[in-house]
Amino acid sequence: MSTVTLSNVRRLYGATAALDDVSLTAPEGRVLALLGPSGSGKSTIMRLIAGLEPLDAGEVRIGDDLVSTPHRTIPAEARRIGMVFQDYALFPHLSAGANVAFGLDKLGRAERDARALAWLDRVGLKHRAHAFPHELSGGEQQRVALARALAPAPRAVLLDEPFSGLDPVLRAELRDATLATLAEARTTTLFVTHDAEDALQAADRLAILKAGHVLQEAPPREAYDKPASLDAAAALGPINRFDGRVENGVVATPFGAIAAPHLAQGVEASVAVRAEAIALRPGHAVRVRDVRPHGAHDLVRVEAQGLVWRALVPARATLGERVDIEIAPTGAFAFAR
Ligand code: ADP
Repeated sequence: MSTVTLSNVRRLYGATAALDDVSLTAPEGRVLALLGPSGSGKSTIMRLIAGLEPLDAGEVRIGDDLVSTPHRTIPAEARRIGMVFQDYALFPHLSAGANVAFGLDKLGRAERDARALAWLDRVGLKHRAHAFPHELSGGEQQRVALARALAPAPRAVLLDEPFSGLDPVLRAELRDATLATLAEARTTTLFVTHDAEDALQAADRLAILKAGHVLQEAPPREAYDKPASLDAAAALGPINRFDGRVENGVVATPFGAIAAPHLAQGVEASVAVRAEAIALRPGHAVRVRDVRPHGAHDLVRVEAQGLVWRALVPARATLGERVDIEIAPTGAFAFAR
């Protein structure tokens, strides 16, 4: 297993930069999630690491090996990188066992079959070794693809939205099982997702991307608690935004004052308040405009002075009632505009 490092990477498609000055590190044996909306550059990063594309500036390293520079791209087959993409891409005419054995062609027949079976066992599919891909469910195919990627002992594994085609319950189960397998094998993993929940729950580190830039790279807890910018805060869940001015160390909003001790008096600031940082209390300062079930929570719209914010609250709120709100300081952030 190896650390994967991108340093100041730029990738152009014509005149547009799909990636611009991207630096990030996937630490050895850990899971780095690449989180960002469609078009933010996640798949381009995967293709660069896989060796499927050249880059225009910067470099990619796998361990100590310099594998991509603007002048040289080590070919994909020489990089020893495992890949699991959304559409699985199993060989349809090969059994599950033969799919996993495929990348083990340097071993003798007996050892190859034994290793393939051992990997199928680790993903819970030993009993399906003779089944063909069309006889397997989507989740099973995905597990075979994972076993196939891991069997040759790659230096890192790339997962590109591998769970997005699956139903939500199976998806969470498979995500957790997959990451448990990867953690057990101490595999360096890069995991692409546009789902904040997936990234927060599955990763050791997050790289939050937007329009070809890394907004923040940090462990999930730190990214959630100390977002580097308004956009980075918004990437990890619903936020309420308010633009104002710093007076006496706070930004006053219709819902209360947000601390901004790091900003100078008079600075134009934007505040972000996480929906889940707002609690409803008995009172009458704000009106409940809308209540929607959101799993075990309610997503509530509250209004004060004509401004509407969203709150994610455990209690059952009542439409039309008047309440006070309380903002947890740990979920409220002020940034200079
Ligand atoms: P993501 O995986 O986050 O959805 P991508 O890495 O696929 O984003 O794309 C990043 C940007 O690069 C997008 O603006 C996309 O349109 C552009 N792009 C990706 N691949 C190509 C390509 N082969 N030719 C031209 N533009 C591309």
